[in-house]
Amino acid sequence: MASSILIIYTGGTIGMQQDAETGALRPFDFEHLLAEIPELRKFNYSIDSHSFKRPIDSSNMNPKTWAKLAKLIESNYEAYDGFVVLHGSDTMAYTASALSFMLQNLGKPVILTGSQLPIGVIRTDGKENLITSIEIAAAKEDGLPVVPEVAVYFEYQLYRGNRTTKISASHFEAFLSPNYPVIAEAGIDIAYNHRFIRSVSEGGLKLSTDFCNEVGVLKLYPGIHQSYVQSVLKVPELKAVIIESYGAGNMPTDSWLLNDIKEAVDSGKKVINITQCLKGTVKQGSYETSKKLDKLGVISGRDMTVESAITKTMYLLGSGTSDFETEFSVSLCGE
Ligand code: ASP
Repeated sequence: MASSILIIYTGGTIGMQQDAETGALRPFDFEHLLAEIPELRKFNYSIDSHSFKRPIDSSNMNPKTWAKLAKLIESNYEAYDGFVVLHGSDTMAYTASALSFMLQNLGKPVILTGSQLPIGVIRTDGKENLITSIEIAAAKEDGLPVVPEVAVYFEYQLYRGNRTTKISASHFEAFLSPNYPVIAEAGIDIAYNHRFIRSVSEGGLKLSTDFCNEVGVLKLYPGIHQSYVQSVLKVPELKAVIIESYGAGNMPTDSWLLNDIKEAVDSGKKVINITQCLKGTVKQGSYETSKKLDKLGVISGRDMTVESAITKTMYLLGSGTSDFETEFSVSLCGE
């Protein structure tokens, strides 16, 4: 039987048009977008679409809209074989990570894509991105979906969603999965990297949309002020702070910094250590400058992207887990 696909249009450059007065790009309606791709009619799949009433630039994305998106997928889950989410590239890696935690036990493809140039522009990258995403969302082998996970497709590469980060504001190749192999590559054929694709989860889809956004991010830099560090670590509403450290998880050894971190941990805040490096992993204890962190109760974020660390923290805080540290330290969905 031909696969059935639901395209969900949230907004983003792919469907934008230039405002006649200001020249700025703003989201346009979905019908216009589909009209620009007559190729879609040539597919042998049954393709339906759903558009956000007010498509957004993805800079306006937030946990509430992630929840709306996840619920939309859940309520259509039985009716379709796969989902293609059209989304702005700016926060696509955050949404892909968030969806991977919201859609636990996912057994069908949820492929996010978008473009750097609007679909109406002659040199657009949007057509190829959308057409191949549909192909991937529909792909089955022995009756099972080939990519039963949340993934990002951009410029001939398919990446695991919660391993992806945006690296370019100008190149068509806008994304990278710095610490995990590309899970498929589109050439004449689509070459799936089966070894690195999750297998179909059993037990049925479980939706978890209670995200807690009381999470802060603190990026270290040489010369950082104690008052600035404290202004983040002492925010009363924050339940967790993700520190972007250097290299393999190193931080200055100034006693004021270690004391401030200790105070934050002792006050019940989760303090997580991820690296500013694009590639590689945090290894607390491999240098003197990270030796004390384990003892202070700082949780290693290993090789996670900042997008994944933020959304996983939001997910775990929202879930009310009594063992945040253990759950954060294990891979829940390939992150
Ligand atoms: N600002 C746009 C957005 O993220 C950029 C894009 O779509 O590539 O919605």
